[in-house]
Amino acid sequence: MAWTIAYDAGTLDVQRSLQTALEEAGIGVLAVHDAPAVAPEETAAARTTDEGGGYRARAAYLAAWATQPRSPVTATLRFAAPALESEALPTASELGSAAAATYASEGQARAACAAYLAAPALQYASARDVPAGPPTARLSVALSFGTIAARTVLAAIDARARDRFLLAEERVSLDVLRRSLAERDFFLQLAWFFGAAPDAPLQTRMRSFPFGRDHPALSAWREGRTGFPLVDAAMRQLRATGWMHPRARIVAASFLCFDLGVDWRIGRDAWEGDLEEDDAALATGNWQWIAGVGADLAQFPRIYNPRKQARAYDPAGRYVRRWIPELRGLPVPGLAGAPRDGRDPQLALPLFATEPYPQPVVDHERAARDFLRRYAEFRGARVRALQ
Ligand SMILES: Cc1cc2nc3c(=O)[nH]c(=O)nc-3n(C[C@H](O)[C@H](O)[C@H](O)COP(=O)(O)OP(=O)(O)OC[C@H]3O[C@@H](n4cnc5c(N)ncnc54)[C@H](O)[C@@H]3O)c2cc1C
Repeated sequence: MAWTIAYDAGTLDVQRSLQTALEEAGIGVLAVHDAPAVAPEETAAARTTDEGGGYRARAAYLAAWATQPRSPVTATLRFAAPALESEALPTASELGSAAAATYASEGQARAACAAYLAAPALQYASARDVPAGPPTARLSVALSFGTIAARTVLAAIDARARDRFLLAEERVSLDVLRRSLAERDFFLQLAWFFGAAPDAPLQTRMRSFPFGRDHPALSAWREGRTGFPLVDAAMRQLRATGWMHPRARIVAASFLCFDLGVDWRIGRDAWEGDLEEDDAALATGNWQWIAGVGADLAQFPRIYNPRKQARAYDPAGRYVRRWIPELRGLPVPGLAGAPRDGRDPQLALPLFATEPYPQPVVDHERAARDFLRRYAEFRGARVRALQ
């Protein structure tokens, strides 16, 4: 019996017990690492320390990943025809799916990948950070459902990079895109080697950190009404499209964990209902990384200032204007609601807005300081308890 390995903690356990049961019953099992571009065991085997197993540190993992030989993209497996009777698989419409999305078939996913590499990938290095900028690859859904393999994407990137006449900008972008796929593999190997339970922070000393379970502004966060334009645009994009830009994910997730002090698991689960991609291991790994409770040795709360992020990555407010109609009339919509120094209060007037935009639900600086104080107290208490 053969299957491709899934990496979410619950399914990993099921797969491992199934494999044991089948092998004990004398049935051969071929469980294949088909989702990552480089299998967890391959990078683990490259470890020079005697710790064995997977990597907890992202930088060390990425360095090891980059030295791995590329696995071949094509291989043929022949299966015996099953003698078991089976009901027909449900059709897409029986599952309630109507849209013929671009990732719906292998052919469409490959065409989308080729089209991206043919031109837009040139600007990927900046696309990752600028929510209203050039497009990112938008391959997460296809990768998550397996209509394209990470190895196939990587092979296509490598083929493109062999063109000697590429612009330097494109070469840099292709390197950054490779690194994105390596980060995906990093989180998959984390789940494979360390993901004991979907809800347990990989950093054991943070397991009892008292994240809040609720906040008066939790539903405002979900609905994109926090009064912080970049956070709100991100959440509205997610609800409207089933996808959120990577930079916006970082800012919106940080806001939930640190400005509202709410448990990262609540954010992860809230997004799970809206994100089209279905990759529990990647969602958990990324949320833990933001919350500062993941396996990475360099773990600390990643607190992002939503207004500074707006200034840096959406300076003209194109992203905010796109998703928040109430702010379209403001000259600097990303900074709406920011405390002002008295020189330009008229800019805050909703002169052109059709609907009122909410006031900020928290004072970011104070919330961040409060969180860091609680974090320092907790870590201090833990250190004292261990002494
Ligand atoms: C809080 C948070 C939650 C996230 N949840 C998910 C999730 O549930 N599922 C998911 O696939 N990604 C998740 N990501 C990672 C990343 O934001 C998305 O993979 C990316 O936005 C998908 O869009 P894209 O395909 O255009 O990405 P691109 O930027 O074009 O990247 C290409 C591919 O690289 C991979 N990749 C890039 N960055 C990451 C990363 N940080 N972690 C893992 N893979 C990465 C993805 O497979 C992506 O499709 C999350 C990030 C954060 C900060």
